[in-house]
Amino acid sequence: MSKIIVVGANHAGTACINTICDNYKDHEVVVYDRNSDISFLACGMALWIGKQISKPDGLFYASKESLEAKGAKVHMEAEITDIDFDKKLVKGQFKDGTKIEDNYDKLILATGSTPVEIPVPGKDLENVQYVKLFQNAKDVVEKLKDPSIKKIAVLGSGYIGVELAEAFQLQGREVVLIDMLETILGTHFDKDFNIRMQNLLESKGIKMAMGERVEEYIGKDGKVAAVKTDKATHEVDMIISCVGFRPNSLLGKDKLETFKNGAYVVNKKQETSIKDVYAIGDCATVYDNSIDDVNYIALATNALRSGIVGAHNASGKELESLGVQGSSGIMLYDLRMVGTGLTVEKAKGYGIETEVASFKDMQKPAFMENTENAEVDIRIVYRKDNRQIVGAQMISEYDMSGAIHMFSLAIYKKVTIDELALLDLFFMPHFNQPYNYISVAALNSLK
Ligand SMILES: Cc1cc2nc3c(=O)[nH]c(=O)nc-3n(C[C@H](O)[C@H](O)[C@H](O)COP(=O)(O)OP(=O)(O)OC[C@H]3O[C@@H](n4cnc5c(N)ncnc54)[C@H](O)[C@@H]3O)c2cc1C
Repeated sequence: MSKIIVVGANHAGTACINTICDNYKDHEVVVYDRNSDISFLACGMALWIGKQISKPDGLFYASKESLEAKGAKVHMEAEITDIDFDKKLVKGQFKDGTKIEDNYDKLILATGSTPVEIPVPGKDLENVQYVKLFQNAKDVVEKLKDPSIKKIAVLGSGYIGVELAEAFQLQGREVVLIDMLETILGTHFDKDFNIRMQNLLESKGIKMAMGERVEEYIGKDGKVAAVKTDKATHEVDMIISCVGFRPNSLLGKDKLETFKNGAYVVNKKQETSIKDVYAIGDCATVYDNSIDDVNYIALATNALRSGIVGAHNASGKELESLGVQGSSGIMLYDLRMVGTGLTVEKAKGYGIETEVASFKDMQKPAFMENTENAEVDIRIVYRKDNRQIVGAQMISEYDMSGAIHMFSLAIYKKVTIDELALLDLFFMPHFNQPYNYISVAALNSLK
């Protein structure tokens, strides 16, 4: 029997604690988390703010009580501030000041990530908001009850920024989306895909301030009143800053090996550079199969799987992660984009020469009347040297999202574009066309 301490009980921590408690009942599991809640699905934040869901209750799937019912000892509002890796000792304190000192046999760090703050004058003004925790979401929802908050600047046009811009627009606010990049969504999708989404946001009245660098938040009576960039001054009543997240790896700083952005470097068993210390979720690296190398991709999906893998290894059963492809999806208004692996632009950044197989077609045959149907645009990215698929993107108003999972597997299994061309894909008019756009795109690239 081992005593396993888990620091951090959000998505990675919860998956890990559940896995240990469900499978290895003889281990003692002790949990410390500095927050007061567990398992907040931040992905629901924009939906709650935009009133696409009426309440936040369903955004939690675990609690101190549910984990304790399985046998874990869970300490909330308990921050770990120091670790003595030689003595296998964690130290910290509860919110009321009571000290914590606890020994472990195995330690699992699941401390996640924290929002990046733009270091500009005015950053402490009232109504400058960050978006990560349930408490942040509650603050924003509360502030939106104030009708004097009319104009909102969203800083950062990644997934989270664009979703929030949509949510505020749906709530009748004037929204300006500000980013240093020229198009929204950065390198998640290729530029022409991003531009289609950007045009949609613009058509809904969201103002685009692309290619602008934030220089200052200007205040009036202690509250934010404007954002000054290198190109313009935007009058605002609230700022939502979501310019990125950095791994929260302070506890292992200068002791554990870290990646270029500070994430704990882990192997496929989630082991860090110190024996018996594991790291999972947003505080750790992943193995990225699209570049065959270590990378940092902060996603809840990666957090869950790394939590499961870390739990088995810390409990004594060897299990290797399969690595990840960075699969993701987004839906704004009625437009959906899903992607996995590398885009053409991202591949270029890694020095990988690629070619693309593209096609555009209706999801279902034209003879299908009175049924939901829409055009789907697909782009498959493959390596020029060995023709292996390294990425795929799709955009449509139709829900074609399930197909991206096959591309995730294709990247993991190193399938070539030529193999994909002749793959057995079913046809049935309710679902698709006899010449499936996936096959046609790949067939057009056959050599
Ligand atoms: C607005 C938003 C939308 C998102 N949407 C999606 C989405 O649609 N799909 C997706 O896959 N991902 C999404 N993500 C990303 C996803 O939320 C993260 O990848 C995920 O939360 C990572 O889980 P984690 O458990 O590793 O870390 P975190 O969620 O950051 O949790 C870390 C935990 O550690 C605790 N902790 C930290 N330091 C200490 C300490 N010193 N002592 C004690 N406790 C500590 C914290 O209190 C926290 O509970 C979104 C994120 C945001 C912010």
